[in-house]
Amino acid sequence: METKIRLGISTCLLGEKVRYDGGHKMDRYLTETLGNYIQYVPVCPEVECGMPIPREALRQVGEPASPRLVTTRTKQDFTDQMVRWAKKRVQELEQEELCGFIFKANSPSSGMVRVKVYDAQGMPHKVGVGLFARIFMERFPLLPVEEEGRLHDAKLRENFIERIFVYKRWREMVAAGRTLGRLVSFHTRHKLLLLSHSPQGHNSMGRLVASAKRIPPNELFEQYQRLLMETLGLKTTVKKQINVLQHMMGYFKQELSPDEKQELLEIIDQYRQAYVPLIVPITLFNHYVRKYDQPYLKDQHYLRPHPVELQLRNHV
Ligand code: SF4
Repeated sequence: METKIRLGISTCLLGEKVRYDGGHKMDRYLTETLGNYIQYVPVCPEVECGMPIPREALRQVGEPASPRLVTTRTKQDFTDQMVRWAKKRVQELEQEELCGFIFKANSPSSGMVRVKVYDAQGMPHKVGVGLFARIFMERFPLLPVEEEGRLHDAKLRENFIERIFVYKRWREMVAAGRTLGRLVSFHTRHKLLLLSHSPQGHNSMGRLVASAKRIPPNELFEQYQRLLMETLGLKTTVKKQINVLQHMMGYFKQELSPDEKQELLEIIDQYRQAYVPLIVPITLFNHYVRKYDQPYLKDQHYLRPHPVELQLRNHV
């Protein structure tokens, strides 16, 4: 990739002291490990909409579908101020070429899921979405989004990072010009990655590309992008991964000796039984792809969806 991936992020996760109590919530994985590949675009809804540091803490109250954003002690209502600012801010963010957003969990302004909404009796219910996060996700429904807490889960982290890398490649391809040739090439290189998330999604996208000449270009790219992000948003499973690994074996029918085939089958089985992580069979496949210069597989992003330094696909 020529440039770093641009991601929106809740400012306090970068270590900036913007929280209501004057503190921050620096996340070292985000700033250091992932930070090597990312150019962050920080957004602190509360400070940017005009609140001071420090400030009184806020909470959501009322109906979960349309809660009010009020201070916990003096009950000042900041809903209208926040919504007005957020609608303007998401317009500005359209120019930022974001490939995703990482939100601070549990915040009444920035939280993505399960934000507390207090009812008339003062009881909290974890059913809300931060006010800014909701407006952002409505404006950018296809953009990969996550919370920092959920990114500590290995599978959710892997899925999110995979999606932001794909989104970046998608943006670069579209920026180069929306031609059918580029779309076919993009699709071809992502086939196995798509298959590892959803055989159905993979098939639907294949049908869309096959009928591409009958669809107006803008509509085609719009449909493809929606299917792409929906498919990659589906969780991969051991069963789906094994399907892809076995599929890849088919490309080495001629080259591999019976002993090499047996070794691959044994390693796939060890992965199936959760004795080794996915990175183990993938590494062996990469070895054979390089050794035999397999033309189709060497272009597959499935074999290198993200930098090895991020240590993904390493869990069992
Ligand atoms: S959670 Fe959101 S609103 Fe609160 S300090 Fe962090 S960025 Fe600002």
